[in-house]
Amino acid sequence: MDIPRIFNVAESAHRIHNPFTPEKLATLGAALRLEPGTRVLDLGSGSGEMLCTWARDYGIGGTGIDMSQLFTEQAKRRAEELGVADRVGFIHGDAAGYVADEKVGVAACVGATWIGGGVAGAIELLAKSLCTGGIILIGEPYWRQLPPTEEVAKGCRAGSISDFLMLPGLLASFGTLGYDVVEMVLADQDSWDRYEAAKWLTMRRWLEANPGDDFAKEVRAELTSAPERYAAYAREYLGWGVFALMAR
Ligand code: SAH
Repeated sequence: MDIPRIFNVAESAHRIHNPFTPEKLATLGAALRLEPGTRVLDLGSGSGEMLCTWARDYGIGGTGIDMSQLFTEQAKRRAEELGVADRVGFIHGDAAGYVADEKVGVAACVGATWIGGGVAGAIELLAKSLCTGGIILIGEPYWRQLPPTEEVAKGCRAGSISDFLMLPGLLASFGTLGYDVVEMVLADQDSWDRYEAAKWLTMRRWLEANPGDDFAKEVRAELTSAPERYAAYAREYLGWGVFALMAR
């Protein structure tokens, strides 16, 4: 069981697999006013940077589940490196339908809401693991500008314009689902660059190290086209943020 190989290649050097910098991740942790000992569940935990740094900086504990074997191994190594392996654990697996044995204070799905079939399904799934009065974190794209055509939406790697909302619409949609938005931290174009542009050097180095690999053609095509496509589409049109929600 694993995710498509292109992600494991292009994002192998990423600690954060989202358009957030380490500073923005720390800002989010501080904004949530986490009490030491709070349990955090993270569905689609990637390389574990959120749980590991929040365990170090804010004293939380918790569990992450991710379908990438590589990212899960990196998360375990990161926990050791930061001295928090006794408090945070990582499971390699499909997070669809995952419910924690013990209820948590924070239940997160940051940039992987398809795990629940979309934002509403992800919230419903996370709510099953959440204590009364707990916080749900959803990381999700929104349109900074509405794409003028479906072609522009596809350039952003969206299936269609209707895949995402504008920011006010996204915030309103959480209300419709019965949740207050109690905090948010948003990506910006510079933090998007850290996520997207960092893939380019990783792909280039991978190509140099793996010239005979069957997969090299695909990585080469992606490296050739990605910078221009990103600058023309996602960088201009796509926003992203993490939204903290509490049930009304
Ligand atoms: N939240 C992390 C990773 C976001 S990228 C971060 O912010 O760094 C999306 C992640 O979802 C990837 O790590 C990918 O491996 C994982 N993923 C995709 N489908 C999944 C599934 N069905 N179950 C668990 N993880 C999944």
